[in-house]
Amino acid sequence: MPALSAESEKKLRLIDEKLLEGRRITVDEGRFLYEEAPLEWLGERASRRRRALHGEEAYYNRNIHFEPTNICIYACKFCAFYRPPKAAADPSSGAWDYSFEDLRAKLDRYPAGSLTEIHITGGVHPDRGVEYGEALCAFIRNLRPEVHIKAFTAVEISYFAKKSGIPVAEALERLKAAGLGSLPGGGAEIFDPEVRKRIAGGKSPAHTWLEVHEIAHKAGLFSNATMLYGHVENFGHRLDHMLRLRDLQDRTGGFRAFIPLRYRNDANALSHLPEALPADDLRNYAVARLFLDNIPHLKAYWAMLGLELATEALDYGVDDLDGTVDDTTRIYSMAGGPAHPTASVKILEDAIRSKGRVPVERDSEYRTEPLKSLF
Ligand code: SF4
Repeated sequence: MPALSAESEKKLRLIDEKLLEGRRITVDEGRFLYEEAPLEWLGERASRRRRALHGEEAYYNRNIHFEPTNICIYACKFCAFYRPPKAAADPSSGAWDYSFEDLRAKLDRYPAGSLTEIHITGGVHPDRGVEYGEALCAFIRNLRPEVHIKAFTAVEISYFAKKSGIPVAEALERLKAAGLGSLPGGGAEIFDPEVRKRIAGGKSPAHTWLEVHEIAHKAGLFSNATMLYGHVENFGHRLDHMLRLRDLQDRTGGFRAFIPLRYRNDANALSHLPEALPADDLRNYAVARLFLDNIPHLKAYWAMLGLELATEALDYGVDDLDGTVDDTTRIYSMAGGPAHPTASVKILEDAIRSKGRVPVERDSEYRTEPLKSLF
């Protein structure tokens, strides 16, 4: 990056003053940080903010994923995971649809107390309404009452409600009663309507995603938020995305973590696009930490990024590496992420310590105290 002009130096100083005073930065200032701020400067400021929020602690959890099906009514161009409904009957198509008994067999591999969270997302199956989600949550709660169920993107929940002919609020209440603990952040992609149309045409629009999360927060369910970046969007689109999240968080306070997700370009309809470079990833984490002043946690999802780069991101505002995963997700491995994403507690703790930070196991709500006696 070329040396900054005197005017840009001055802008940077003014932004720094604002940040030091705890004032919010604007979209224009965010764009300036993306375009002109030196990466080292961003890392230092994002770390300062992260330190103010979390000290030197960095979090992880013991989780697995369950992806019930990759059969999906949508056909997002960035997605390497989905198979169309007509592929369901073709064993060579790579489509799957696991039963509850498959899930039982998976859970049976984990002794009591060895997991705190199951993360469930998958394709939007054409035949499934809220009754399916309720039955799945109840099945897990019955089998493993101690495990937090973080399940169903806003896109899946919106379809459940539509299929069952009920309002989203009722669908969420029923899922919560059946054992749903929180919502993952997937399906957000990029909120800008034009970009969303280009990469995920047909899928629920931004306002639906935001509404589902707002209703969930009001129903006492917290959630996460993602942003898929590094495809056809620009910095303005990223800031628009984060601004909408920041505004919603001001109203509800229900987001726990923001999770930027780098577009991976294997085996999908956008494979001609290059992927973001590591320096872009780090810049994106740092700007997110500074712009999203009201979402407490910033997560580097190592199963998408690789553990090495996720660890590096700890120097750019990140305070959470996600969890052990144990090779239970294929969403990113099918698109070019680590082929068999597994990390033991030791591996995650060593990664965190390598940055001079203190590893802390958390539960899904970022509580840490009870866990110290549990494990
Ligand atoms: S991203 Fe989700 S909604 Fe889109 S095609 Fe893939 S599985 Fe379906």
